[in-house]
Amino acid sequence: MKPFQHNSKPSIAVAGAGVMGLSVAHALRQYNVTVFDGGRESSASAMAGGMLAPWSEVEHLPENFMDAAQHGIALWEKILGGLNEKVEFHRSGSLIVAHEDDEYILERLAAKLPQQKIIGAEKIAVIEPSLGNRFAHGIFIAEEAHTNPQQALIALAASVSKFVSENADMEALREKFDYVIDCRGFAAAKEDKDLRGVKGEIVIVRNEGFSLSRPVRLAHPRYPLYIVPRPDNVFMIGATLLESADRAVTVKSALELLSAAFSLHPSFAEAEILDIRAGIRPAYSDNLPRINTDDNVISCNGLFRHGFLLAPVMAECVADLVAGKQNNFISLFRSENDDHHHQRSAQKHRLRA
Ligand SMILES: Cc1cc2nc3c(=O)[nH]c(=O)nc-3n(C[C@H](O)[C@H](O)[C@H](O)COP(=O)(O)OP(=O)(O)OC[C@H]3O[C@@H](n4cnc5c(N)ncnc54)[C@H](O)[C@@H]3O)c2cc1C
Repeated sequence: MKPFQHNSKPSIAVAGAGVMGLSVAHALRQYNVTVFDGGRESSASAMAGGMLAPWSEVEHLPENFMDAAQHGIALWEKILGGLNEKVEFHRSGSLIVAHEDDEYILERLAAKLPQQKIIGAEKIAVIEPSLGNRFAHGIFIAEEAHTNPQQALIALAASVSKFVSENADMEALREKFDYVIDCRGFAAAKEDKDLRGVKGEIVIVRNEGFSLSRPVRLAHPRYPLYIVPRPDNVFMIGATLLESADRAVTVKSALELLSAAFSLHPSFAEAEILDIRAGIRPAYSDNLPRINTDDNVISCNGLFRHGFLLAPVMAECVADLVAGKQNNFISLFRSENDDHHHQRSAQKHRLRA
């Protein structure tokens, strides 16, 4: 990386205005930042549930990310509180329930979450009255939060001083700006061969007769599902997890998502379908996010299922990198990956020799 002159105000380009790019632009707002993006509507971020739920995701997120994840929740509260536009943010926890035959999944999760206890039907009915006594057992994780991704992206984009609504030519940016922060998500897979897309399909419905105060997950061996409440009795039902980067929503997936919602509560049979869409999660082979540097380019990618949870933490790491400061979390995103990188380079050299 080019050395940063601490008495100057570097020019910085951010390629990509998903949650990663916008979080970086916000973290670097004291500098001269220009954000580029010509296709924000179809970003993975625009499809996300907005759940800030590291413990619910314990089967997808390693233990050593938990402190960073909790920091991510705290950062969201602070960032959203400082924006001009109002963005929903709820620290109302998450609830995980299972049908009787699938309760072994709850037990498996509870074993991985020693701080959390399995609760009974009475407590579930108090937390989420709309579920009544449909589920005998569940896990309530009080510390988790959720936000509204669409509102958050709009409010963050509005806080950017310079926004160019077109896709960037990365080589041109590299020449023109002191730093380029590459946050192109899955689009970077053209050059980054370790990056892949993991499709997530969602259905948005309005269910007038039902309400939730927090995301509810249905633990299921084949169709694990979550339902995230939005204002006006709108619910996001998500999400599939498919090794594919096409954006088509299949009938099979739609049936699975809607059947699972119906099995959570029969009132979903009468819900109005508002939208069905797919987003492509950018992911590396280990499903963990990375910050890589190459001369004056810093790339942040591979946020997989945890983009909302971890983007502000990675953005803070980028801001500290640019300012030449230490950051306790950066090793999560770099050191091991650098080792991987070195291993890959060494392997390439050996193959060539
Ligand atoms: C269905 C679904 C539900 C999810 N739910 C959650 C959740 O509840 N909680 C959570 O933490 N995470 C969730 N995720 C994961 C999260 O959405 C992703 O990890 C995150 O959005 C990745 O963000 P990103 O900014 O890296 O990529 P993206 O959001 O894909 O953004 C990349 C942006 O780069 C732009 N771009 C591409 N090429 C260029 C170019 N040349 N120049 C400029 N811009 C360019 C694209 O137009 C796009 O806007 C979910 C994902 C999906 C698909």
